[in-house]
Amino acid sequence: MKQIFLIASSLLLMTGVLSAQEWKPESTEWYYPKPQVVNPGQTPGQPPSDAIVLFDGKNLSQWVSSDGTGEAKWKVSNGEMTVVPGTGMIRTKEYFGDCQLHIEFKSPPAEKYSGQNRGNSGIFLQSAYEVQVLDGDNNPTYVNGMIGSIYKQSAPLANAYTKNGEWQVYDIYYKAPRFGRGGVLEKPAYVTVVLNGIVVQNNFEMKGNTPYTGLPEYHAHGRLPLALQDHGTAVAFRNIWIRNL
Ligand code: MG
Repeated sequence: MKQIFLIASSLLLMTGVLSAQEWKPESTEWYYPKPQVVNPGQTPGQPPSDAIVLFDGKNLSQWVSSDGTGEAKWKVSNGEMTVVPGTGMIRTKEYFGDCQLHIEFKSPPAEKYSGQNRGNSGIFLQSAYEVQVLDGDNNPTYVNGMIGSIYKQSAPLANAYTKNGEWQVYDIYYKAPRFGRGGVLEKPAYVTVVLNGIVVQNNFEMKGNTPYTGLPEYHAHGRLPLALQDHGTAVAFRNIWIRNL
């Protein structure tokens, strides 16, 4: 191994890529620009100092109905916001691109529901790319639509859901797609999803949007709101914050 390294180093020196005289340790160190100071939250999961708090348990002031008709009509009580089935998706007033998102959710009682009808909601990054929200407690369904999936694109690496009735914690790291002249896709979106501290999507390359029927497609866009899905069940959310990256 050492011999291979010596041969490789000698070749680099001979070809001029490396010069024994020129390279110093500090040749490959830099000091500017300095990263900004960000103070972490008091406890893990709490918003850091530069986070935009989207829901702190009090009201839906950061949200509107996603159909553009006005106020978000979901219920707020006990520090939670809960889907009111039939009132439609809600979206943030603010628009986002690359981001770090923290969001916690709790499935409603399982009762008679199963599969895609049990605790279904969704986190729509840029209103287009769904990280699935579903009850994952003994709830068989297609795996690319289960909890932790990128809807109909990627099954999770693990089922990290705990138990029905317990709060579940999503941390999502998202790189938005890049579009060039004429709306041509230059770089796809990438997403890493951590559920309850366990990586369930590892820098997944998104194939496009996440339709119920048909194949994913990209449609050029810039910054867009974050949206949450009303899929007919009373999923609760709390402690939602986001950082622009
Ligand atoms: Mg959904």
